[in-house]
Amino acid sequence: MTDATALTLAEARDALRAKQVSATEITQAFLAAMEKARGLNAYVLETPEQALAMAKASDERLARGEARPLEGLALGIKDLYATKGVRTTAGSNILGNFVPAYESTVTSNLWRDGAVMLGKLNNDEFAMGSSNETSAFGNVVSPWRRQGSNTPLVPGGSSGGSAAAVAARLCLGATATDTGGSIRQPAAFTGTVGIKPTYGRCSRWGIVAFASSLDQAGPIARTVRDNAILLRSMAGPDAKDTTCVDLPVPDYEAAVGRSIKGMRIGIPKEYRVDGMPAEIEALWEKGAKWLRDAGAEIVEVSLPHTKYALPAYYIVAPAEASSNLARYDGVRYGLRVPGKDIVDLYEKTRAQGFGKEVRRRIMIGTYVLSAGYYDAYYVRAQKIRTLIKKDFEDVYAAGVDAILTPATPSAAFGIGEKGGADPVEMYLNDVFTVTVNMAGLPGIAVPAGFSSEGLPLGLQLIGRAFDEETLFSVAEVIEQAAGRVDLPQAWWA
Ligand code: GLN
Repeated sequence: MTDATALTLAEARDALRAKQVSATEITQAFLAAMEKARGLNAYVLETPEQALAMAKASDERLARGEARPLEGLALGIKDLYATKGVRTTAGSNILGNFVPAYESTVTSNLWRDGAVMLGKLNNDEFAMGSSNETSAFGNVVSPWRRQGSNTPLVPGGSSGGSAAAVAARLCLGATATDTGGSIRQPAAFTGTVGIKPTYGRCSRWGIVAFASSLDQAGPIARTVRDNAILLRSMAGPDAKDTTCVDLPVPDYEAAVGRSIKGMRIGIPKEYRVDGMPAEIEALWEKGAKWLRDAGAEIVEVSLPHTKYALPAYYIVAPAEASSNLARYDGVRYGLRVPGKDIVDLYEKTRAQGFGKEVRRRIMIGTYVLSAGYYDAYYVRAQKIRTLIKKDFEDVYAAGVDAILTPATPSAAFGIGEKGGADPVEMYLNDVFTVTVNMAGLPGIAVPAGFSSEGLPLGLQLIGRAFDEETLFSVAEVIEQAAGRVDLPQAWWA
């Protein structure tokens, strides 16, 4: 085996079972690659000792013929997931050196199935952002560059560390979270695949909360199949999260490669937004053609409340964040900045502990929830949310199986290029993804081509609630038609 880091997760699984490589060899190859790639800032914590111990245990099980579904597969974990005995920061100074005494349900499920933890991945602070520039650890640098340019690019966010690590071959797959696009947008920016499952599919227990009615866990990996394999282990009922559904988890991998003949794929006309670059429009058309060629029927559909989704999201999400983040007060855990009395301690801790974007969200959230403004903003945003959900329900009731849209309105941009003067410029990145969270539906981003500057571009498929299987089948058709993404040259190593 020459380079274990070049394998997809499925290939690594098969090579391990065929004894062509050991879990220890795979883990060592990734640890060495991570060391060389520190300049990308994808990992905020490497856990080599833990990784090698887990790999050794996997090798013993493999030798005994007792391999579990993810036996020996080396993963990176977004730093929003609580990992027992391993520092968890959510990319924020306010959590300081917080070391959880418990493990999140999703990561527990991964370890139960034999996966190996390489370390914790960088993310926007409390998952608020679209570029990984709000992290207290500093921005992640995308492994991608524009043709003929050295300008450092963002990997997207908030799961930018996860996407960059997968694209730069620093893990076989990664966990991520998505509140308004944080799995799909970074996947699209880095030529990787990411699925946000249906709200309720994965437990959020032990994942640092941002906006609880929108947050979902999901994977980012190199291929559709790898996503299917990971989601099967991550998903499942959990008595510790009452929003997590008590439904059996299908064999998602079996859906990869299934025919899409006769499926109806909707193209929502409202996603043709003003100022959308011609190359995004062309990519979308190409995607529709691939699906038609594979036997699907393409139909135009209407989601009339789409234009209200982004403003409504930026009321609902900050409102919930302001409530969720009230717990960081310097008393129970994380950073504590002493003050002359308890109120002074709270104020100093929160002022120093939270970064600028998080403070902005807390202020917006507190404002829209305050007496006098609650009806004008929060209640109205919730009503819009109901209408957005109904738009999707109407389309699916009319017999549409999945909806095809661009994943992002542009390719990746340069670090520092967006949102400096006007945060809305950054928020506009989520225009195609927030609707899906507002409606609680599953969405997958899959690479479909390249921009004129040589950067990856992705398409998004939106499915019916709890029908991730259709997304895996349709996304794989796009993946096959687009051809395997050639990973970027390792200029960082
Ligand atoms: N970019 C969006 C935001 O900043 C979504 C983030 C996310 O999905 N966690 O809120």
